[in-house]
Amino acid sequence: MEERHMDLRSMSYEELQEKLVREGEKPYRAGQLFSWLHKEHAASYEEMTNLSAALCERLAKNYPLCTLKTLAMQEAKDKTRKYLFRLPDGETVESVYMRYRFGVSVCVSSEVGCRMGCKFCASTIDGLTRKLSPAEMLEQVYAITRDTKEKVSHVVVMGMGEPLENLENVLRFIALLTDERGLNLSARNITVSTCGLVPEILALAEKKLQINLAISLHAPTQEQREQLMPVAKRYPLDMLMAACRDYYEATHRQLTFEYALVKGDNDSKEDALRLAALLGELNCMVNLIPVNPVKECGLSPTDKTDVLNFKKLLEKNRIHVTIRREMGREIDGACGQLRRRKA
Ligand code: SF4
Repeated sequence: MEERHMDLRSMSYEELQEKLVREGEKPYRAGQLFSWLHKEHAASYEEMTNLSAALCERLAKNYPLCTLKTLAMQEAKDKTRKYLFRLPDGETVESVYMRYRFGVSVCVSSEVGCRMGCKFCASTIDGLTRKLSPAEMLEQVYAITRDTKEKVSHVVVMGMGEPLENLENVLRFIALLTDERGLNLSARNITVSTCGLVPEILALAEKKLQINLAISLHAPTQEQREQLMPVAKRYPLDMLMAACRDYYEATHRQLTFEYALVKGDNDSKEDALRLAALLGELNCMVNLIPVNPVKECGLSPTDKTDVLNFKKLLEKNRIHVTIRREMGREIDGACGQLRRRKA
């Protein structure tokens, strides 16, 4: 992203300081502004009381702040909240707030729409509109913080979009989230999920970040994966697994494999055994997700008892397994569903 097109909230501390000094401000102003943007989550320059009125006015005129407008919010019985936000250009994205025993987690979108075409996903039905800037990703976290008044401890990039298609902006987003002068999140509390873009997984491995990488696997064989995820044709399963091994070698971070259970498609006893064999020696865990029903996709979730049986079989084969907490179906649980309904 070129600096001249950048929102101030997308800039690193150093870039912000350079810009302000170039415009005749003292270097310490960068610290004040950065803190308002990333620690206080200010939604306007007027809130920045230790900056002069003249500077606030000039910044507001030249660098409008990226803020999101809440168009809809749904709350489930377990207090999970799904937000539909309007971006400055009128596009919309979804974000999710979840409260756990270990803290507060926010799931953000990285793109408007998605072009990956996964069969079980509502976000991809209308294709990709555009990628999100770092500021637009950060603002999802900050807008939820402003609304809930709770400090976010974990961030998951698993909403609408394929994060590794927007790698440069996602890396900048992570750098800003983990900046100790801002939210100061631990990299270990950030998870990025990919449908399996092999070159970008390898590029990410080179950065040796301590983040968590989740792979949307969803099938134990190439044939089955191709049926659910068109990306499998571009990056076959053996290539993907080799990239995962390389990623682990480079980072020593345990990988997570996301597996959405679709009734009659990928949830048999044989599927569980094939999955266990595929993951074999890799240091990883499997996150089972009872797929959320999406009208347009015609896929049904696996029954609860079959989910538990699938889990038991994997565990018997020494695979760590968790079952993802189901987000209330009463709040358009599937990613992209609320946005489609409101559209
Ligand atoms: S699951 Fe993720 S990568 Fe696949 S279509 Fe949906 S948003 Fe895109």
